[in-house]
Amino acid sequence: MAKQEDDFKKVISHAKEYGYVFQSSEIYDGLSAVYDYAQNGAELKKNIREYWWKAMVQLNENIIGIDAAILMHPTTWKASGHVDAFNDPLIDNKDSKKRYRADVLVEDYVAKIEGKIEKEVAKAAKRFGDSFDKKQFLATNQRVVEYQEKADTILKRLGRSLENEDLADVKSLIEELDIACPMSGSKNWTDVKQFNLMFGTKLGANAESAMDLYLRPETAQGIFVNFLNVQKTGRMKIPFGIAQTGKAFRNEIVARQFIFRMREFEQMEMQFFIRPGSQKEWYEKWKENRLKWHLSLGMGEDNYRFHDHEKLAHYADAATDIEFRFPFGFKELEGIHSRTDFDLSQHEKYSGKKLQYFDPELKENYVPYVVETSIGLDRMFLAIFSHSLQEEELENNTTRTVLRLPAVLAPTKAAVLPLVKKDGLPEVAHKIIDDLKWDFNVIYDEKDAIGRRYRRQDAAGTPFCITVDHQTLEDETVTIRHRDTMEQNRVAITDLRAIIAKEVDMKSWLQRMA
Ligand code: ATP
Repeated sequence: MAKQEDDFKKVISHAKEYGYVFQSSEIYDGLSAVYDYAQNGAELKKNIREYWWKAMVQLNENIIGIDAAILMHPTTWKASGHVDAFNDPLIDNKDSKKRYRADVLVEDYVAKIEGKIEKEVAKAAKRFGDSFDKKQFLATNQRVVEYQEKADTILKRLGRSLENEDLADVKSLIEELDIACPMSGSKNWTDVKQFNLMFGTKLGANAESAMDLYLRPETAQGIFVNFLNVQKTGRMKIPFGIAQTGKAFRNEIVARQFIFRMREFEQMEMQFFIRPGSQKEWYEKWKENRLKWHLSLGMGEDNYRFHDHEKLAHYADAATDIEFRFPFGFKELEGIHSRTDFDLSQHEKYSGKKLQYFDPELKENYVPYVVETSIGLDRMFLAIFSHSLQEEELENNTTRTVLRLPAVLAPTKAAVLPLVKKDGLPEVAHKIIDDLKWDFNVIYDEKDAIGRRYRRQDAAGTPFCITVDHQTLEDETVTIRHRDTMEQNRVAITDLRAIIAKEVDMKSWLQRMA
């Protein structure tokens, strides 16, 4: 646990030191759970967004993208159920005065049990070596089976109590499991209460006529209310999808995991409109498709898993999370939800407008069903950033810090470094930059010895360093150094563009999904 916390602290300080993420309004001591993306962070975030957008919108003939407003008519949120049901169960510790999400306290308890299972698996894998069969071990090892049963029973009961809004039982569960406040160790809990997560604001100049609005807590509703406009103007035929990326706001009760849980964050959502009855098939297809997208980034199959929901939201008939192994354990990165016709039907009811589709093959009107994929851009950023940050032992007994970002997403693709600040080398370096900048983000760096400059670029996540030396003046060749292998090759300046493109080209990364 201490190592996990330590690793996570390193992630946060590295993000600050290398210009990725700053605390918002830091000079005023910051605003809790609100963050700013700095020079490198903004680029990384933009690249992740583009990687998602291309995979969803550009590569799918039947998906188009929109950009709806953050402010929406307030009835939207009555129809969607957010006014009545967008609540988290909160609990306070009377001694430490710390506030928690009651469901998260229980889930963290279960995560500890799962951690024990993982430990047993690791031990057995070591003992049995190549002959180890994980599936069989999980199904037959007495201790592991008992752990698993305990975890399942707890989650089932939590799901049932939340579904029935039996908050007293959620508290009983916390007490029965003997869960203590992680800060103080105290078990002196208040009752569990519901807390609405939407931020309110006002539209209009004077108090009497002002209209109460909400900052959108999800981007999805901007898609639903535009369903018919898009379908008609785009002449879309079912099945088709509408995608968008944009800010969402939630007044989160507990927000202390850096950009994992923020009060202002960005979502990348896609609603796929389908025939009623085909939802199972599309749900499975989108699960598979989205996992492939994640795996295309090469961060290791073992770091992802599906977690099916026990407790389904009021709108869903099936739901799963793609979880990622963050520095603090497996947690939700993306949600895939089969939302039935709930949202469109509700908007029909509240607006009095028909939101139906005439299916030319079936020759009938219906309210389409929806399968949604919803991923937090900031969470994806954290997954990539924390996974990429590595301390590496080198052969000469030193270590280097390297940020192994997937090259396609790296904020800067190459740093051009004159070996010395004289003899015309800086001029050649600038000429190389002038040539490459039309295709890639490239930077110039002449400060410090070349070794330190390499280390600095490794830690910043730059995939290539290009060094201009005296030989360059004679034969127009440079040294190109690869971040991950530290390998250096002498190449012609005229070949640089092709060498870099080969590793950072979005097309070839996305083709790994095929
Ligand atoms: P959680 O259970 O972690 O609160 P959720 O189930 O409420 O998440 P959804 O409503 O399904 O999340 O939102 C879709 C995605 O948006 C999540 O998978 C996550 O990546 C992202 N997300 C949700 N809330 C936040 C937040 N407060 N900060 C950053 N990202 C968020």
